[in-house]
Amino acid sequence: MKKLARLKRLAGAVRARYHDPNRATYMVMRIVNYTNVCVAQCDYCAFYVLPNQDGGYVLSREDVFAKIDELVEFGGDLVAFNGGFNPRLPLDYYCDLFASVRERYGERVEFYALTVAEFVFLADRARLTYTDAAARLREAGVHWITGGGSEILTEDFRARHAKWKYTVTDYFEAQRAIVEAGLQTTATMVIGFDETLDERLEHLVRTRDFQDETRGLFSFLCWTYKPYGTAFGLDNVKHIRTSVLTQNEEAFRALDYGADDFDLPIEDEVTQKAGATIDLDLEALLRIPRRLGYEVEYRRAERPAALTSN
Ligand code: SF4
Repeated sequence: MKKLARLKRLAGAVRARYHDPNRATYMVMRIVNYTNVCVAQCDYCAFYVLPNQDGGYVLSREDVFAKIDELVEFGGDLVAFNGGFNPRLPLDYYCDLFASVRERYGERVEFYALTVAEFVFLADRARLTYTDAAARLREAGVHWITGGGSEILTEDFRARHAKWKYTVTDYFEAQRAIVEAGLQTTATMVIGFDETLDERLEHLVRTRDFQDETRGLFSFLCWTYKPYGTAFGLDNVKHIRTSVLTQNEEAFRALDYGADDFDLPIEDEVTQKAGATIDLDLEALLRIPRRLGYEVEYRRAERPAALTSN
């Protein structure tokens, strides 16, 4: 218990360097799973189907617009696109989709275009360098490519569970190109597989080193958050986000351990298929951090400062 209390104190001290200790920010968002067809075959995934299997889908532009319109009605303004490694979707599908979303919603809605994992697949399939692929997406109106799909960033973990997804070297090379293209990115981590504590630590150290080198990470989100190590281990990342999507009301306890921000998602098929439940009573959810003593404030999904002159 003493260690936990010490950790809480240290995490709170780091949080206070960047944020008001009694305040937490949040966003209302929707994850739009544009396709469930995937060839990566990660062994922990309940979401994908292979290209020739029944049940595969690709959302049309109209489907996507309908989902975004619903989000806006809900009071949200952040969309995160997340799908599978679908070999039938060319780069133009993504560029057209993102350009049409930007054209229709302008600055009213911000979107996380892809995860770094999908970006790696997309660039390889289009036979483009990461630099050129990032430039094409930026031209299509993309501002953000997030660090999703990282799970645990060690080569051993990847070989055990997701050997066709990417190598860790590729992952960081792609993320560096994203930052250098002037796009914004984030870091994530998913725990609770069979990873060892050393592997978790390696993931955190690599993330921290990447941030020291690039200063490109806006936030760090740990799914199935456990407080040890994460918050104060990444004291060079300004925003630590806690995952309501996977931890429901328990997620808010992370605010006492260094987290300062959270999303209220209204849909994510990937985690819902794996057992996550989404509570759409957002007011009831917000009462929980308030009861813990936090003033909560809506954070508008904004384009990165580096792109404000676009
Ligand atoms: S986790 Fe993502 S990359 Fe892996 S199989 Fe599922 S959809 Fe594909």
